Amino acid sequence: MPTVAEILRGRTQAGFSIEVLPPLKGKGTEKLMCDIGRLMRFSPLFVNITIHHSEPVYEPAESGTLRKRFVRKRPGTVAVAAAIHNKFGVPTVPHIICQGFTPEETEYSLIDLNFLGIHDLFLLRGDNDKESLVPRELSHKHATDLIAQVNDFNRGQLIDGVTVDAPVEKFSFGVAGYPEKHAEAPNMKSDIDWLKRKVDMGAEYVITQLFYDNEHFYRFRDSVVAAGINVPIVPGLKPLSRKAQLNILPSVFGTEIPQPLVTAITEASDEDVKAIGRDHLLAQADDLARNGVPCVHFYTLGAVDTVCFVASEIFAKP
Ligand code: FAD
Repeated sequence: MPTVAEILRGRTQAGFSIEVLPPLKGKGTEKLMCDIGRLMRFSPLFVNITIHHSEPVYEPAESGTLRKRFVRKRPGTVAVAAAIHNKFGVPTVPHIICQGFTPEETEYSLIDLNFLGIHDLFLLRGDNDKESLVPRELSHKHATDLIAQVNDFNRGQLIDGVTVDAPVEKFSFGVAGYPEKHAEAPNMKSDIDWLKRKVDMGAEYVITQLFYDNEHFYRFRDSVVAAGINVPIVPGLKPLSRKAQLNILPSVFGTEIPQPLVTAITEASDEDVKAIGRDHLLAQADDLARNGVPCVHFYTLGAVDTVCFVASEIFAKP
């Protein structure tokens, strides 16, 4: 099976990919597999599976105080990637993050994935805003550290200094980019310089943070190319479906929502918001597909109907 990087490099017209979350702890994979089955009708190029570290939850203790426990609300990234890979025969891309995991745990995931025949990864830092069971000082600090570990693993170099036979098939990986700048970056140049570092270290493609104004993406793509980054840049899109997202999305993802879209959603009835979000997604994806992107990446959480609709309008095979 070709790697995601090979698929992207070989594209002469835009395709699409999807990103799914592992089920909540205690839930089965039936609904997820059903959703992916619906999306598979439109032949996505690959499927990404997110990863989530443990988070604190507070429960009443007998003493009347609160007791803190750590829970991974969505475990199972590696297993879900393998299940999707086996069931649908589509390239799957498990995410790996620094935050909340020790390098040892990451190494075990790499060993598992190598056994499973999954060699596409998406390497990220993870969000810094939540506490995790693994203290920050025991985790890698940046995606660049994770890349270094994967590169070492590809050479047969384990984290305890032991050298083993290098895996026959090497891991290939992509990284995240930010059309509107990562929230912590002091400026766009600094953010793109770090992105270049990730690519120089071996990242073979970039998938972007979600955005609602394609002009941000085109400016970002121009700056990335001007900085000497020559890998495929894949735009990430998420449909708007609720009024509350007008406030949530800018604060969580640092994205700006264009005023005409804000006005349309604000003035619409709750029932009409989904259709407005869907039409905006369709227009964004169509414009990107006509402007040279190899692939449009859809964040599908809560949006399978909408993504199916857009995929059928733009990407369905004749
Ligand atoms: P980094 O590349 O480490 O960058 C973080 C910040 O530090 C940036 O400001 C950058 O400019 C700067 N920087 C980068 N490298 C260095 C360095 N070596 N030294 C100093 N500064 C540096 N989160 C999850 O928890 N799970 C997921 O599954 C997940 N999937 C995602 C998928 C996509 C497509 C995207 C765009 C994001 C995803 N995220 C996920 C969120 C991501 O973890 C956050 O955006 C996180 O804050 C940054 O991750 P990063 O890999 O870009 O970090």
